[in-house]
Amino acid sequence: MPSSNNKIILLTLGEELLLGLTPNSHLTYIGEQLRKHGVTLHSNLTISDEATDIKVEFESIWSKADIVITSGGLGPTVDDRTKEIISESIAEPLVFDPTILTAIQARLQQLGLKMTENNRKQAFRPESAKVLENPNGTAPGLWIEKEGKILIMLPGPPRELIPMFENEVLPRLAQLGKIDEIENYLQIRTIGVGESSLETNLQSIITSHPDLTVAYCAHQGQVDIRLSFPNHEEREEELLDIAAQCKKLLGSNFLCFGHDSLPEVVSKILKLKIKTLALAESCTGGLIANAITDISGASEFFRGGITCYQDDVKIDMLNVPMEMIQQHSAVSQEVAMAMAAGVSEKFEAEYTLSTTGYAGPNGGDENNPVGTVFIGLHSATGIWSRKVHFEGTRQEIKRRVMTVALDWLRRTLIEQPEENISHSELQKESKQILKSLS
Ligand code: ATP
Ligand code: MG
Repeated sequence: MPSSNNKIILLTLGEELLLGLTPNSHLTYIGEQLRKHGVTLHSNLTISDEATDIKVEFESIWSKADIVITSGGLGPTVDDRTKEIISESIAEPLVFDPTILTAIQARLQQLGLKMTENNRKQAFRPESAKVLENPNGTAPGLWIEKEGKILIMLPGPPRELIPMFENEVLPRLAQLGKIDEIENYLQIRTIGVGESSLETNLQSIITSHPDLTVAYCAHQGQVDIRLSFPNHEEREEELLDIAAQCKKLLGSNFLCFGHDSLPEVVSKILKLKIKTLALAESCTGGLIANAITDISGASEFFRGGITCYQDDVKIDMLNVPMEMIQQHSAVSQEVAMAMAAGVSEKFEAEYTLSTTGYAGPNGGDENNPVGTVFIGLHSATGIWSRKVHFEGTRQEIKRRVMTVALDWLRRTLIEQPEENISHSELQKESKQILKSLS
């Protein structure tokens, strides 16, 4: 078990963070990583790159922390002064390190760039610092153990900091016993069921293990359950057994163990079943396609998508009958189904989803006020649509629709027995259904 007495403070540097131009994602990332490894970040302070601020605030933090992590200001330009100022504060002279210079030279060569004088500045490190490799940039990270404390300096860009934190920082902290080596809890992701129902549902399992800690974390129609034991390293088997029991009780509301997102889970199932997906998005405006294509390897199953916002695009691109739109409006169950069928035909995909609705803040009608959305689903066994209604901002409504649509597809994929219906047979059948609707 890591010592809970270690006070870890994160010092994030950069005026862009204070101006609200860049979200402080290092706080959420590092906070989450440490929590996963059994410790809680004590605090975070964000300051500008101003020399006096760095000196005053760093010295104050250093005096009270056991571990200080800084981010930003390790670059080659004059406004990057974290290393210089902090070295002075901890009375460490800067020494030239030829191995850093070689790494910088190699990195610049790889990018086809020339070495400049200010890059040379990055080859200096505090005398006792160990270098943390940065394969994605020229600024090395720095690790200093001094006065019984640890100081870790990392560069600002997330694509540099994140792999360094994972590959260099976490293993070192674990080796020193400052954090748990493995995740100290087992996470079960659930979807489509509220926190209180979950608790009731799982009560019989949970109450039979009095020293089991259960934490619930709700987000966007999903609830994560974290299960842990005080001495979890020795009780991993037991924890896995409890998790398996929970999974069984949860049925199709079980999303996954661990940290996969809903689009990742759906992608895995589609790949596993060797099925293809296409999308016809009106009110979600490509949001679902974006989430799917964020996943590497999406080309294995994702045929493509159409953002069909205006009526004539729905008609021309997806063969939605004009009369259907005139009769039922573009925001209707019938149009959602016709869109799903149309995109299936166009892209020859085995599963398709469609969305059409009023994301607000304007629009809507008496029957279908703002927040009303119809989702269509087309598969080898048929064509359906669902009406949903959400409150919230335009963006929130779009995200909720994406969650419901992908979850519907997930449930369909896991629950539906496979049927050997050919694509042309299916097209014929869905055309008949749509004809009867319009
Ligand atoms: P560089 O060599 O790019 O100058 P650096 O180590 O000097 O790197 P900064 O100049 O402070 O880092 O920041 C570089 C970029 O990293 C910022 O423009 C910002 O986009 C991003 N960044 C810095 N701090 C954070 C943070 N806390 N959260 C998210 N992004 C950040
Ligand atoms: Mg910089």
